[in-house]
Amino acid sequence: MSRQTCERCQGNGEVVTDWDRYLTPQEGDAGDEAVATCPDCGDVDEDEDHL
Ligand SMILES: [Zn+2]
Repeated sequence: MSRQTCERCQGNGEVVTDWDRYLTPQEGDAGDEAVATCPDCGDVDEDEDHL
């Protein structure tokens, strides 16, 4: 596989959807509430998360 670094997520496979919550997680947050799977590259081998 020759995957280029994704511009959308910088290769993380996730994109931040809520910076406030990402930087300051609310009590009880597991850490993924403020991020979403990158639609460009991160749509594989992730748990199926239908929000
Ligand atoms: Zn990506």
